[in-house]
Amino acid sequence: MKALQYRTIGAAPEVVTVPDPEPGPGQVVLRVSAAGVCHSDIAVMGWSAEDYPYGLPLTLGHEGVGTVAAVGPGVTSLPIGAPVAVYGPWGCGSCVKCAEGRENYCLRAAELGIFPPGLGAPGAMAEYMVVDDPRHLVPIDGMDPVATVPLTDAGLTPYHAVKRSLGTLAPGTTAVVIGTGGLGHVAIQLLRALTSARVVALDVSEDKLELARTVGAHEVVLSDANAAARVMELTGGRGAQGVFDFVGVEPTVRIAAGVASVESDVTIVGVGGAGLPVGFGLLPFEVNVTAPYWGTRSELIEVLELARSGAISVHTETFGLDDAPLAYERLHAGRINGRAVILPNG
Ligand code: NAD
Ligand code: ZN
Ligand code: ZN
Repeated sequence: MKALQYRTIGAAPEVVTVPDPEPGPGQVVLRVSAAGVCHSDIAVMGWSAEDYPYGLPLTLGHEGVGTVAAVGPGVTSLPIGAPVAVYGPWGCGSCVKCAEGRENYCLRAAELGIFPPGLGAPGAMAEYMVVDDPRHLVPIDGMDPVATVPLTDAGLTPYHAVKRSLGTLAPGTTAVVIGTGGLGHVAIQLLRALTSARVVALDVSEDKLELARTVGAHEVVLSDANAAARVMELTGGRGAQGVFDFVGVEPTVRIAAGVASVESDVTIVGVGGAGLPVGFGLLPFEVNVTAPYWGTRSELIEVLELARSGAISVHTETFGLDDAPLAYERLHAGRINGRAVILPNG
């Protein structure tokens, strides 16, 4: 089968031919319908040989949707042909976090060498992919694979982030979304669907701000040196009760700190590597700063239900598998609006 692999540190990913996978005991092989292109892959492919934590070659793609093609011994619950979405942050299944469905925070994954597909294990940018356990699949009968696949990360990650702050985002509050790309444009919709906060969206690109407005941002602000002042003006000097940074670089965490109100939540989702020091007088009183990772199994089911109800929808651009390297180039250049989705089987 064909697969998109990251093969050499620092080089672009390549489409190669690899053996078709066979399901081992307890495993499921999916015929991949759609695979999402996440900016995290660009961060991964930017790491030096010392920092790179996975094996090579690595089949990319940690957002996957497909149909059940084959099941290994012991799998009885999944009919062949069933359409499913893959829950990516695989855990051990039996520690206390996994028992709660919080496999993104599995206590034993590192020790057991368990990695998400596309981030250590072979991922979804291939004609077929192996899923280690049926519990990592959610049925998506009747849902469009292209519109659904980004929900497994670009939906789930902001859903987890926004859900933590629902208690803070009361009527009359403001939520700020910094970076309105794949994750950010879903975050805006989640904030609109789940809260009555006023949503202010920031980006460096006019195209992205246009999309932000289309998907429900009340206000859009260019993310430049005046951005924090502009947001403070829009909030009558009070600042925002929820700030979601989907970039995570120095300029954006500084904006986040500059617009946070007292007792607000600042959530740094972007893996740009920047952080905020917390201490008396460094930030407004009682600001909670956090950096979450992905989301839980039950949250994936919830975010898929939200999409099924029509409350959120992902803006997508599709590419064939042969053009997947181009999709990464375009994302790197800031030229994908919404989420790029690869169609490995045409
Ligand atoms: P994306 O490229 O689709 O979106 C990023 C957006 O940020 C773009 O619209 C870009 O124009 C904008 N941007 C860049 N610099 C900016 C600035 N200075 N101010 C405001 N906006 C700016 O990327 P994505 O796939 O949505 O991922 C967003 C970030 O989230 C990435 O860092 C990714 O690695 C990270 N991520 C984290 C998790 C997690 O679990 N924590 C999960 C998925 C993705
Ligand atoms: Zn991702
Ligand atoms: Zn676990």
